[in-house]
Amino acid sequence: MELLKARIMQDGKCYPGGILKVDSFINHQMDSDLMMEIAKEFIRLFKDKPINKVVTIEASGIAPAIFVGYLMHLPVVFVKKKQPKTMDKMLATTVHSFTKDRDYSVCISADYLTKDDHVLFIDDFLAYGNAAKGVIDLCQQAGATIEGMGFIIEKAFQHGGDFLRSQGISYQALATVESLDNCEIKLRD
Ligand code: 5GP
Repeated sequence: MELLKARIMQDGKCYPGGILKVDSFINHQMDSDLMMEIAKEFIRLFKDKPINKVVTIEASGIAPAIFVGYLMHLPVVFVKKKQPKTMDKMLATTVHSFTKDRDYSVCISADYLTKDDHVLFIDDFLAYGNAAKGVIDLCQQAGATIEGMGFIIEKAFQHGGDFLRSQGISYQALATVESLDNCEIKLRD
């Protein structure tokens, strides 16, 4: 997506350890016009899939997922990183956070992820694929079908995409970072 790629080159910042900071327009301050264009692009890419629910994981996936859900008139449910005391029918799994270098127990109510669901998973980044693996596990527990996964930015050098392809999961990334070596952003054409 050219608009997104241009914005990453203009405002993205490289951090040591393979981290790309986009918090001036995606995951802290958000450019709502750009987010709407991102959502439209996801919808174009997944328009042939029989999706009935958008799933994301808190916190940074929520904004793009809501734009997608709003435009598709579909419910959006987010996987939680804290287990609420009031959630009784709960599905849970463990996700390793690469940016925070710790494991999280994440959960979703079995009321909102069921065998009748055909899921589009949306997140801001695909890095090692740990969040995606957690969502795959939760969908398996629920008997839900994953119709596709959409990421705003994929970091190809961390190989989460290789894992998703090996699992036969249809995924799309709107911008792909080939390398952040020497703190220089290299995007795929
Ligand atoms: P993964 O689970 O694929 O290893 O990493 C994806 C998750 O980690 C995303 O939900 C995202 O929030 C966070 N993440 C991974 N890499 C980056 C990055 O380079 N920059 C930022 N801001 N977040 C990242």
